[in-house]
Amino acid sequence: MTDRNRAARRLEGVGSTIFAEMSALAVRTGSVNLGQGFPDLSGPDTVVEVAYDAMRAGRNQYPPGRGTPELVDAVIRHQQRHYGLDLTSDNVVVTTGATEAIAAALLGLVDPGDEVVVWEPYYDSYRAMIQFAGGVRRPVTLRAPDYRFDVADLEAAVTDRTKLLLLNTPHNPTGHVFDRDELEAVADVARRHDLVVVTDEVYEHLTFDDHAHVPVATLPGMFERTVTISSSGKTFSFTGWKIGWVSGPPDLVAAVEGAKNWLSYSSGAPFQPAIAHALDHEGAFHEGLRKDLQHKRDYLCDALDSVGLDVHVPQGTYFVTTDVSALGHADGKAFCAVTAERARVVAIPNQVFYEDGSAEGRHLIRWAFCKEQDVLEEGIRRLRAADLRA
Ligand code: PMP
Ligand code: GLN
Repeated sequence: MTDRNRAARRLEGVGSTIFAEMSALAVRTGSVNLGQGFPDLSGPDTVVEVAYDAMRAGRNQYPPGRGTPELVDAVIRHQQRHYGLDLTSDNVVVTTGATEAIAAALLGLVDPGDEVVVWEPYYDSYRAMIQFAGGVRRPVTLRAPDYRFDVADLEAAVTDRTKLLLLNTPHNPTGHVFDRDELEAVADVARRHDLVVVTDEVYEHLTFDDHAHVPVATLPGMFERTVTISSSGKTFSFTGWKIGWVSGPPDLVAAVEGAKNWLSYSSGAPFQPAIAHALDHEGAFHEGLRKDLQHKRDYLCDALDSVGLDVHVPQGTYFVTTDVSALGHADGKAFCAVTAERARVVAIPNQVFYEDGSAEGRHLIRWAFCKEQDVLEEGIRRLRAADLRA
């Protein structure tokens, strides 16, 4: 054994993912897991049947790196039907989940020293992949309680070294859905500084009330500079299948594919026709999911409020953020340890999604409501029965 650290420097500071860490804590403590965002229930059986059929029909070898033609065509139809975007097969590449799409976009588009403007709190893989690409993060902070950003902060974050803007709407972990005004401000900056926008829209179908998702690529002059990322994981509740996709102008998609070729090369052969079927025929599933999640959001927000937490009601996604200061806690990680030990309920401390766990996020906690109603109720019963004060 050697005590020399044999890991590459690019891994420094990125550690393991908070989601795996907190799910392991949930198992260890017998906790209700309201941390990692995966639904309790699978997506439609009809979609599972298509995957079975594909396996039985022998579709078990490498599919084309770009994606199985049925899925590429279904993504093209989806973008036309929902957003009026006219794409061809040169505009789409299938990836191993949105996670690989994020990785391939950053590795394919960012050179060492390039700056990436990223809205914080940000999904944890952004940090890792900007670092792997040798990029430099320039955060713009979404501030509670409404999680809008200040356009002056965005202007200040852009320099002559900025290569791209990395955005996520609907936004994990805050549940903020960027409105047209905010996106116009992003588009204006991108056009003026000739920047690429990489936009992670995996929660595109999970918005509530009258908050509509606006894809960045639909804004004037933006399609040509935008890489849009989505995934079947959230839309169809198949997070374990890891089928995602990227769409955009041919040169940007080719750059993403150029990196994807050397990551996984190709993705889940039998799952691709199944997700093609889902995109074409199972739109009712995500409509139903959206309605169900809206009820669960309302339930969980009211219940967390009754436990004494300050709740920030989300406009989309399946996460709600709460401020734990009212219970006397200054540190979200410590609060999550308390809920796991005293109540046996696990959540996610938002501070890991900020630069240096900055003051802005230290006291914020994310709870997932993509769970069965009885699971949510059991979690709340436990939280009510425990003394959660610092
Ligand atoms: N981006 C965001 C904002 C997410 O919340 C997630 C988790 N679904 C991902 C990307 C990763 O998606 P996938 O599971 O398709 O890799
Ligand atoms: N996207 C999910 C979340 O935010 C988890 C993904 C993961 O475990 N990497 O909870």
